[in-house]
Amino acid sequence: MKTSPHCYRRCKCILSLQSASRVYEKWQKVGRIIFVYYKPAGMEEQMEELRQQLEKQCLINTELHRQNKDLEQRLQEKEKLLQELHTQYHDIEFPASSGIDNEAEFRKSRAAVIASEPIQETLDILKSRVKKTSSETALIVKSIQKNDFLSRLDDEQIAMMVDLLETLAIARGGEVIREGSEGDSMYIVAAGELLVTQSGRDLRTLTGGDVFGELAILYNCKRTATVKAKTEVRLWCMERQTYRTIITNKSKKKREQLLGFLKTSRTLKDLNDVQLSKIIDSMEEVKYQNKDVIVREGAEANTFYIILKGEVLVTKNVNGLQKPIRRMGKGEHFGEQALIREVLRTATCTADGPVTCFSIDKEVFEETIPVEHLELFDDSKMLQEARAPEKSSLGSTLRFKDLVPVLYQEGRYQGDPVTLGVGGFGRVQLVPPTFSTNAPCCCPRGLKDAFLQMTTVNHGKYYAMKRVGKKHIVAKRQEEHMLFEKKILKAIQCDFIVRLHAAFKDTRYIYMVMEFCGGGEIWTKLKEVGRFDEQVAVFCTACVVEAYAYLHKKSIMYRDLKPENLMLDVRGYVKLVDFGFAREMVRGEKTYSFVGTPEYMAPEIIKNQGHDFAVDFWSLGILIYELLVGSPPFSSSEPQKIYAKILDGVLNYPPYLSEAAKSIISKLCRPRPGQRLGNTKNGIKDVRHHRWFSNMNWHKLRMAQLDAPTIRLIRKGPCYINFDRFPQDQTKAEEEFSGWDRDF
Ligand code: ATP
Ligand code: MG
Repeated sequence: MKTSPHCYRRCKCILSLQSASRVYEKWQKVGRIIFVYYKPAGMEEQMEELRQQLEKQCLINTELHRQNKDLEQRLQEKEKLLQELHTQYHDIEFPASSGIDNEAEFRKSRAAVIASEPIQETLDILKSRVKKTSSETALIVKSIQKNDFLSRLDDEQIAMMVDLLETLAIARGGEVIREGSEGDSMYIVAAGELLVTQSGRDLRTLTGGDVFGELAILYNCKRTATVKAKTEVRLWCMERQTYRTIITNKSKKKREQLLGFLKTSRTLKDLNDVQLSKIIDSMEEVKYQNKDVIVREGAEANTFYIILKGEVLVTKNVNGLQKPIRRMGKGEHFGEQALIREVLRTATCTADGPVTCFSIDKEVFEETIPVEHLELFDDSKMLQEARAPEKSSLGSTLRFKDLVPVLYQEGRYQGDPVTLGVGGFGRVQLVPPTFSTNAPCCCPRGLKDAFLQMTTVNHGKYYAMKRVGKKHIVAKRQEEHMLFEKKILKAIQCDFIVRLHAAFKDTRYIYMVMEFCGGGEIWTKLKEVGRFDEQVAVFCTACVVEAYAYLHKKSIMYRDLKPENLMLDVRGYVKLVDFGFAREMVRGEKTYSFVGTPEYMAPEIIKNQGHDFAVDFWSLGILIYELLVGSPPFSSSEPQKIYAKILDGVLNYPPYLSEAAKSIISKLCRPRPGQRLGNTKNGIKDVRHHRWFSNMNWHKLRMAQLDAPTIRLIRKGPCYINFDRFPQDQTKAEEEFSGWDRDF
């Protein structure tokens, strides 16, 4: 989890200090004015009085300053305590009270990032499936239904879970989960009692039907409590690898099958796989009971159906009687004419027994097809467009051994290296434009001059150097993400994305030297002001839209949008940083990894249905909401509650949001990826043309000719003034020699 900034505290303190000095300046002015106008009158006493008042004011000022310092220190201590508490409770994944709290919880801390390990796509499920009695099945289903997160999974996923659960017997006193370890399984108590403890404190007792550790089926989360058997215990348990592999393979198979079904439609036969895949993304599952009429003869036709399960009876009205025409089953479809012309239904289709269909409305279909051809690319050309590195007028070379840290000039960390940010993976330090030879070097002493890439750079610019421990990368299995982050950043030339100037590595760390975004993080600014006014939010979002247009055109999805990853440059323009989760994707394909930040994750990621570029538009909707409201729409201190809220998809808007804002958020946060604004037939153009952006001059934005409204959020002062302050990192990462970073 990320470290919380002290943005609230610092903002308040700075404001009060500023107001004190403003009073002082005012008095000085008053003094001068009075002096000019009244001296001829010989008013020595008045001058004296004024002098005394000024002196008094100075004293008050000094006292105010002292009090502020005191207050600042106390607030810092409190904040630290709060952060520790928050960290302790953030990941608790044990059943507390049931039900989802619908109150909007204000997001005070930075969002944690989730990066699951790669899925073993060909895992053999050797373990035999344990047959369950009907009462066992009933207990499991009941347990799943009362669990906030699991109950929101699809029926099919729940059925599979029931099928896959294995039994596990634990003797009295046996430990099932240890606090601090990484989770790989979830459990349901079949019989017996278990005790949950945290830091040695008893939290609660688990009994039959209780679910625990369920987050572990999504990703390798850290266990936040210990669970031990109080009595002899029997558990139902399931490993993440088993669950995710099976669900992934099932989702893939289902897509392939649907693709096959769609290809049998005469109307759709000329569409290519990318287009058909888009249609699948827009389709929704509908269930019918026995005898339900799905379409009625003579009614206006506007929906197309594919039968996924069950049988449908087709009948026609002949002299007032329903004459059976035919029977349709799995994979067959009806109503395709409705998609392309105004027609009336020519027959009635009735469910014969329970039926599940996959359907799409004409309106949605029209938005989906034809796919915006301009947005399709030859991905083999990807990453080849990188321009040659910038040449400075001085032609100096950026060498690793020259990168000395900038030090804090004042404050409690005076003399320590400036840290701009600490993320889930790395620490980002400020390095200066000119390289001195006597200052301490950022890199470990004795590091061989092994800079792997030399880039010429401009003087007069600061750099932000991200450093990530190699051992940590390997432990979290993020090697590919790291390599890709560097590869992508190196190739990118976009004004709305941070530039990478050089990359280095040594035995402990990898380093990326990036363009320094001196305006600070959008996250910090947002926490300082609470929420942005519409003008600022529109501007920030527009910059993100431009970055997305660039990335998606290069077939790269970003997947980690959030205010923490948006930086301001000194002009107030927004840039995307942190490409740890970005990925290159071929149009029409899906990926099944579980990555992102919980509050910003699209439902298809949580459900493991396979995802693509559409997740970036979902997160854009979440971002607009968070910028305007101050907190994302689906939030909670417990991740599983966040996921449950996302799957419910209910957006609650505060009354002050404009109609246009609500409209764009709802359209971006549509549960079906194929229906999302930005992912329909006109692609990202639809986002640009939405009325929320009606005052945006996109051309001028791209040309950097707009005055950024964000400029008022940027403070003037030392180059690190717009950043939170962090203590020096005293630890040293362990050495790592596995060689994964050969190409870094
Ligand atoms: P995450 O937890 O989001 O994965 P991370 O470890 O990958 O984080 P980044 O998000 O890249 O790290 O950077 C961490 C923080 O460092 C940012 O949130 C930001 O405050 C600061 N930062 C990163 N890049 C820059 C930059 N180019 N200029 C200024 N500050 C930066
Ligand atoms: Mg980040």
